[in-house]
Amino acid sequence: MYVHNPLGGGALFDLHTASLDREAIAPVRDEAALRRYRTHAVRLTKVRGLRVPPALLGEDDRDLVARFRRFYPALVERTALRHWIGRVPVVFPAAGVSDARADSVDGRPVTYVSSGKLDAIELVARTVALCTRLNELAVDDFIRLDEPSTTDEIALSWLNVTGDVFPGATVPELSRLDGPGVRETLLGWVRTASPDLRPAYARMVLSRCLTQLTLNTIRRGGEAPDPPATTSPIDAGYLAVLMLTFVVLHEIAHLVLGHNEIGFRGSPDEIAQAETLRTAVEPVAEEFADLLGRGASFEPAADHFAVALFDEPLREPLLEAASLWCTAHVRAHAAGREQVADLLRLSELPDGHPSFALRVRYLNGRLATGVRTGEIGWAIVSAAEAAATELELADVRPDQEAELFRTVLELATPALAPRWTPLGEDGASAAS
Ligand SMILES: [Zn+2]
Repeated sequence: MYVHNPLGGGALFDLHTASLDREAIAPVRDEAALRRYRTHAVRLTKVRGLRVPPALLGEDDRDLVARFRRFYPALVERTALRHWIGRVPVVFPAAGVSDARADSVDGRPVTYVSSGKLDAIELVARTVALCTRLNELAVDDFIRLDEPSTTDEIALSWLNVTGDVFPGATVPELSRLDGPGVRETLLGWVRTASPDLRPAYARMVLSRCLTQLTLNTIRRGGEAPDPPATTSPIDAGYLAVLMLTFVVLHEIAHLVLGHNEIGFRGSPDEIAQAETLRTAVEPVAEEFADLLGRGASFEPAADHFAVALFDEPLREPLLEAASLWCTAHVRAHAAGREQVADLLRLSELPDGHPSFALRVRYLNGRLATGVRTGEIGWAIVSAAEAAATELELADVRPDQEAELFRTVLELATPALAPRWTPLGEDGASAAS
């Protein structure tokens, strides 16, 4: 059995580790950019019925931001476009609304990632790390006990993203149960399995459920408890920095590719800026010229740009992080089987927006190399599409969902230890 995990080490991971030793880069408070962002924040909070941000927006200074400020310049050094990209400031307004955008202030380009978006990035990274640890332990058991597998190749962090619906264990069904009921539904069924395999099966169900809860929370923009830190084949801090890097480069791509020439952000200064940048990046930009100028092409084009900036071996880990991030945002409507036709059809609609699952397919279709072009790549893309088909938000109140999230995390925490018996030592359920 071959277990694929491009986030488990390698050149990009080493670059990240080395960057943590760099001198901290003191943030320069960009007053003009923060003032400008507040107008966006006010508009967004009104639309979404949230509390209006204070008159003076501060900047988020969490650890993730400090680590990004060390890693990002070191990464940007590795692209031929470093002189252009490196001079676009990245500002982190302390606004609760989840938002990332490219903009210009007084004719200079700027990108924003709000606190709400940073919260989402950390939630996804921590859940993926936790689920990957559960999957690792389960796969170890399956290999040790020679359990027949349906595949010889496993994309480790995608194992819990599946279209299989476990009867009675969807988020709406679980949210109607009390704590013992949730425990019995998620763990009680393993009584039917041999005791050796119970931990593995229980871990798979727990990781799948946590993934669903994360997808729901992201889609809803709701609050979630902090998944506990754990040793894992994926370092949550590293994954969060990669996802944030992808978000930032995606926004810079909108500037570079001139996407803001149409719509409300097209100041003459900005168009001039985008034109200059576009001339500089012709080699990267021409690949999707066939879709340029159409609203639906902007998102896949910006995704592609963000990852295509780098060559292997830096590219695949970034592609993996980008795919996981986009999958966390899948919408309930699936893209359907006619993926390419769908993309072309969308390109004819000026404001059409491709689904996130479609973006994962497009990104991997264009940029996957090596083993990722085979069964592994197929598993990743189908996982992203499967995630889109099973989101169920009906009848679940955000507070019920957050409470369920807490309950499932409490069940999953002891399962992170190598030795764990889901039903207790005697095999009886604690809920009986
Ligand atoms: Zn975008």
